[in-house]
Amino acid sequence: MDDERSIIPDAAIAIVDGAIVDLGPDADVVARWGATEVIDAAGAPVHPGLVEAHLHCSYQLFRGALPDQLQEEDAFREFEGHFYRAVDDEDEHASAVIAALEMIRHGTTAFLEPGTVLEVEAAATAAELVGIRAVLADSFIWDDPEGLAMGKNAHPERNTSMIPRAASDRASVRSRLGRMAVRQSPPGSLVTGHVAVLGLGTASTELMIEAKRVADDAGVVLNFHQSYSPGDTARDHQRLGAHPIVALRDLGVVDRSTTMAHVNHVSDAEFHALVESGATVAWAPAASMMWGHGSTLDGRHAELHRAGASVALGSDSPNWSNSLDLFRQASLAVLTARESHRDRTYLVAEDGFAMATRGGARAAGISDRAGSIEIGKRADLVVHSLRRPELLPLTDPVRNLVYSAGSSTVDTVVIEGRVVLRGGMFPHLDEEALLRRASERSVGLLRRMGYTVGPNDLGRRV
Ligand SMILES: [Zn+2]
Repeated sequence: MDDERSIIPDAAIAIVDGAIVDLGPDADVVARWGATEVIDAAGAPVHPGLVEAHLHCSYQLFRGALPDQLQEEDAFREFEGHFYRAVDDEDEHASAVIAALEMIRHGTTAFLEPGTVLEVEAAATAAELVGIRAVLADSFIWDDPEGLAMGKNAHPERNTSMIPRAASDRASVRSRLGRMAVRQSPPGSLVTGHVAVLGLGTASTELMIEAKRVADDAGVVLNFHQSYSPGDTARDHQRLGAHPIVALRDLGVVDRSTTMAHVNHVSDAEFHALVESGATVAWAPAASMMWGHGSTLDGRHAELHRAGASVALGSDSPNWSNSLDLFRQASLAVLTARESHRDRTYLVAEDGFAMATRGGARAAGISDRAGSIEIGKRADLVVHSLRRPELLPLTDPVRNLVYSAGSSTVDTVVIEGRVVLRGGMFPHLDEEALLRRASERSVGLLRRMGYTVGPNDLGRRV
């Protein structure tokens, strides 16, 4: 997927020291290079690794724990507050490890984490252990945590939003801000930094401007949640005195190197600001659908993509999308756009694929090294298998991947030139032991939280 979205039949890719150094017709590339190791895709599709543009990688230990009748403000204020008081570094490491394993199994080779891991080095070491590219940020850049409630928490006496390890006083926030952005990594390192602000009413205008300055100074993206629900969008509008994204653009916070997650509510003025600024929107269609936000009905993500804005895809977390499968997000993006616009042609399979690859790389600020298979980029590749029926017959690989096979035919994954998944197995890891460890830590974490997982309240359906 280069700028022309080229597909090369019967191709070969040459990799040296983690970089793509040649690609083209198989016979030509083979003639030019004497390979020490060959991965034979046997005619199956090979594509750039998908780039996850919005993932809270430390929430994996409570996947599925939230019942379907739970209201979202209670999830934020009650469950997540308790989680952040109970979770420890080992839990965050175990969570990030299984998130990375799951992403790789789904063909994702890089992810952007929005600054919600308390001990960011736990996520960094997990990413390095599994071998996934991670773009991480300092923990909880905010100066008004109470803003998260958006004034609608039904049980203020049960508020737990004050997280001792994520202090919001100016000195604490200042001491955290910018550490990851300037984290010195050796060349070829899988872990790099950016600047994330939680957003959703938890940051003052001064903090947003300061965070943008820090990001610009380090040459990394600024990433924050924006216009997620009607409540936080209205509150931002009131606070900023204008349509939020227009106001943030005018403050210099929204430009080409800004990534905003969700952006489910967009006025006409904001639509134009998004197209003209070149900012990236990380759309999480399943997360919206899971909580009934309506972004696939009323959101303007597909319209933005068609207008030339930068749109990426995110899974969010294991109780929002629940699955970290970007093929699923790509399929939902395309199909829901057609449904809401009542037009089969509104988005096509290639649009979903572009959002999940080039869009994601742009969102994470790694377009120079990921998001496409081009000479000079790092070798982050996904090789599928033709040994499963859902990809066959191989008429059109893009349509068959986005609409049918998705991640189920992912066979081999290469990140930074290293084979991290081969034939569906992690050759350098004891995956079973890592999964067992995560399950055990989940039990311990939920016990410390005093949380009992129960079935859904089926009575509510009557
Ligand atoms: Zn999020």
